[in-house]
Amino acid sequence: MADSTIPASTLDYPPLHEGRPFVVLSDWDGTITTQDSNDYLTDNLGYGKDKRRAGNLDVLNGRPFRDAFREMLQSISANGRTFDDCKEALLQNIHLDPGFPDFYEWCRKQDIPFVIVSSGMAPLIRAVLSKYLETGATNIDIIANDVEGDQASAEWNIKFRHPTSTFGHDKSLAILPYKRLQPAPLLFFFGDGVSDLSAAQHADVLFVKRKGDGENDLQAYCIRENIQHIVFHDFSEALVTVQAIVNGVNAGGSVKEVVGKFLEKH
Ligand SMILES: [Mg+2]
Repeated sequence: MADSTIPASTLDYPPLHEGRPFVVLSDWDGTITTQDSNDYLTDNLGYGKDKRRAGNLDVLNGRPFRDAFREMLQSISANGRTFDDCKEALLQNIHLDPGFPDFYEWCRKQDIPFVIVSSGMAPLIRAVLSKYLETGATNIDIIANDVEGDQASAEWNIKFRHPTSTFGHDKSLAILPYKRLQPAPLLFFFGDGVSDLSAAQHADVLFVKRKGDGENDLQAYCIRENIQHIVFHDFSEALVTVQAIVNGVNAGGSVKEVVGKFLEKH
């Protein structure tokens, strides 16, 4: 990792799951959850939806995601809201994709590693997960940003994993080490939005969530860039597809053939 173009990480990575034929990585906000938790916090505890949307548009026009995101979160603490307030608000208002607990449980039973890769903050993700998952919420791998400062006061701030990256957290750095393993596992990646662009292009099997709100940024990007992907609406649907792919590959089918029948045609 001496390449100077690779941003240094301020936070540890969980150990790589070596020697596994399949590994699942997934975005958190809007993919595992039904609503983006950071948007929720900014809209309701921070400076509100209008400014948040303007911030999103700034990013589309080239402003670093890291800077816009930090500003959104700072509008929450500027309103006197503690990090603990944020946690509480999310516990009350953020819901998981109803199919996710069964999907995760199936992976766990099959010994297929499941890793959450997020631009959000790990303590908030763990808090919401612990509400919904009976087992493993404390063990599940989360590669995200963190929080620094005093969580019980308004003196808190996001601690970016890659402060020198314009993404704040460059998700591709969670995937690439798996690509270098010999033999490399078959990598599934689940995502929905712009924060997934860097990771999406490295997945072997890319699942793109299509949502009712019309915000399907990742799919639009995949179509434009001609990146093959499988569309899913919820994790119950995705589970059936993943099971078919795992069974097909385990039965000796080629990945190309087994995955091919599920790919979105354009
Ligand atoms: Mg997302």
